[in-house]
Amino acid sequence: MYFKYSIIIFLLFNSTICLAQRPDSEIIKTNNGDLVIQPILHGTLVLQWNDQTIYVDPYGGVNAFKDIDQPNLILITDIHGDHLDLNTLKALKTDKVIFIAPQAVADKLPEEYHKNLIIINNDGETKQLGISIKAIPMYNLPEETDAKHPKGRGNGYLLKLGGKTIYISGDTEDIVEMRNLKNIDIAFICMNLPYTMDINQAANAVLDFKPKIVYPYHYRGKPDMSDTKAFKNLVNKENSNIEVRLRNWYPDYN
Ligand code: ZN
Repeated sequence: MYFKYSIIIFLLFNSTICLAQRPDSEIIKTNNGDLVIQPILHGTLVLQWNDQTIYVDPYGGVNAFKDIDQPNLILITDIHGDHLDLNTLKALKTDKVIFIAPQAVADKLPEEYHKNLIIINNDGETKQLGISIKAIPMYNLPEETDAKHPKGRGNGYLLKLGGKTIYISGDTEDIVEMRNLKNIDIAFICMNLPYTMDINQAANAVLDFKPKIVYPYHYRGKPDMSDTKAFKNLVNKENSNIEVRLRNWYPDYN
């Protein structure tokens, strides 16, 4: 009897730990050192490369970034609170940070962040800290001005560093600009309804542009989380060379 209860307590304890845990960081070799990828939460990630720390859409509060280096570069994709999160920005050390954002985000970004702000809109490019950054459109289909994400407002991003090309989709559907991407090493692809696209659209687009590695991210929808395992099956049924990496993008940081 005692043994049985010990097992139950052990399992309960472990499942709580699992819920709370941030996924481990992952390393990709580049031609100039390691790229470290750290999933944080929902559409938020940290990349580290060549002594630079890049935060993408910092969101989720200061605990989400505990024990992670402060950023040198912050990329923001869109104006919504899960991408432009002023409470999280306030908790970070940002006085020397370079911000990259589209005009619509710049318009909502308090003055204190404008010192090193570089505005790029769709198709715009810049090079910062040795990293080439291009803004890729992100938008809902069909294109409507009252869409949750109208074309031209937000940016997905294409980063080139150390010979690797990384695509961060932002909040989008399976747009032609995504399908036309070439030679993508790592792609972060959103999939959640009713905000972006479903797993069938996401899988179909991924099969078109064939990134080497895909991370489904931004998959918490309303009312349900998207089934990322089913997404992986849809992709790998047609193309087993695309590596789909399923990670927990929703740890409990409280
Ligand atoms: Zn979003």
